[in-house]
Amino acid sequence: MNTYDAIVIGTGQAGPSLASRLAASGMQVAVIERKLFGGTCVNTGCIPTKTMVASAYAAHLARRAVEFGVGAGPVTVEMKLVKARKDLISGQSRTSVESWLKSLQNCTVYEGHARFESAREVSVGGVRLSAPRIFINTGGRASVPPLEGVGEVPYLNNSSMMGVDFLPRHLIVVGGSYIGLEFGQMFRRFGSEVTIVEMGPRLVQREDEDVSAAIKDILEAEGIQIRLNAKCIRLSKRGEEIRAGVDCKDGEPEVAGSHLLLAVGRRPNTDDLGLDKAGVATDDRGYIVVDDQLRTNVDGIWALGDCNGKGGFTHTSYNDFEIAAANLLDNDPRRVSDRIPTYALFIDPPLGRCGLTQSEAAKTHKILVGQRAMTRVSRAVEKGETQGFMKIVVDEGTKKILGAAILGVGGDEAIHSILDVMYADKPYAVIQRAVHIHPTVCELIPTMLGELKPA
Ligand SMILES: Cc1cc2nc3c(=O)[nH]c(=O)nc-3n(C[C@H](O)[C@H](O)[C@H](O)COP(=O)(O)OP(=O)(O)OC[C@H]3O[C@@H](n4cnc5c(N)ncnc54)[C@H](O)[C@@H]3O)c2cc1C
Repeated sequence: MNTYDAIVIGTGQAGPSLASRLAASGMQVAVIERKLFGGTCVNTGCIPTKTMVASAYAAHLARRAVEFGVGAGPVTVEMKLVKARKDLISGQSRTSVESWLKSLQNCTVYEGHARFESAREVSVGGVRLSAPRIFINTGGRASVPPLEGVGEVPYLNNSSMMGVDFLPRHLIVVGGSYIGLEFGQMFRRFGSEVTIVEMGPRLVQREDEDVSAAIKDILEAEGIQIRLNAKCIRLSKRGEEIRAGVDCKDGEPEVAGSHLLLAVGRRPNTDDLGLDKAGVATDDRGYIVVDDQLRTNVDGIWALGDCNGKGGFTHTSYNDFEIAAANLLDNDPRRVSDRIPTYALFIDPPLGRCGLTQSEAAKTHKILVGQRAMTRVSRAVEKGETQGFMKIVVDEGTKKILGAAILGVGGDEAIHSILDVMYADKPYAVIQRAVHIHPTVCELIPTMLGELKPA
């Protein structure tokens, strides 16, 4: 039995930073990783996908070069080089997490699958470790939906997509949400035919209807086929072709493609951790139940990141580390409920989001809404990237900002100017009276706030 002050299971976005803080405070720390250091974001999520989105953007802009007065020949995409660039950037990040952890004083790294043996004991390989504090940062994985025929056809997910170094002739993407849309647009730009099949009546259903509709227009303008209301999806293989039977209201009853990507949600890595031996409670979807300071129902065990179902993003997992460290080491009672929801959809142009959607806000507040098309943002016009719009939702009584969406060039960055005023908990006039740099997307946020109207 090896005894430590703390055990960290998983090296996602919370575990390594927490291990470093705990070790720096003088604790003896064990870190356990079963596969790739850095977890999802580094190896099969944010970093590789955004690297590939950048390659896809380069191809897209090169095809449009003549619009900017730049001569360019036919554009070719070399998928092996796209993958090599992605592998290099993602690999550097993985190596740096691994070497950082292995070089930390007071920290021992174990490579293998961790399982609880009791509320204080974890086994990895043939070794047993014990500690009075155990932090779970085991993340999640792609879920496989119970679609008819799913066991009879080959399919890709976000992990296996990382090995693709060829151009699928026709990629069928099942799932019209964040991951599916990013992969769908990038492969269309690489040169594949792409069909996105979504069971619901619109894409990214968490967003307002006008945002979903604008995203659909952007993707369709690039030649992506979108099949909505695909209530009952049946998968089959005929020769080399994969077929997806779709009960859509409109269009052909079957989509035929060369490759299939399932992008239909994720599930937490909690089913193979031996949580029952520790008595740690999960909800009906397998997420570990935590309180506002990320403590599980078992004293001395915390859960951080995607496995607790409170975030689902790299920045929320990292914030979980900050909350746990602040409570444990800094006597600073930070909480999950201090956090304002924010995220981006990294299609091009991207969608930056913060706070409530308009439809969510309208359920509980009397709201004012400001809106501006990107065709009326001079920076977007100058860049030749005028798709999308931005909107902001304000509480009529308190004059505080409730939420915003910026679907347009630079939307993933510009959203922070709104988010920070929300964190400051100030009325919208603070940002309306601020002088922003010309020409930027942000400079139109004060103008948009000057044109607020009742919803
Ligand atoms: C395609 C894709 C794109 C994404 N893009 C974005 C984006 O642009 N922005 C964003 O904010 N988020 C994005 N995300 C989400 C983001 O990747 C995750 O929210 C983030 O990685 C946080 O994960 P985590 O810290 O909970 O754990 P993870 O990063 O999932 O890491 C968990 C680690 O624990 C290890 N592990 C699991 N079980 C055990 C065990 N029993 N023993 C030992 N080790 C174990 C795993 O091997 C893994 O290394 C994306 C996700 C995907 C799939």
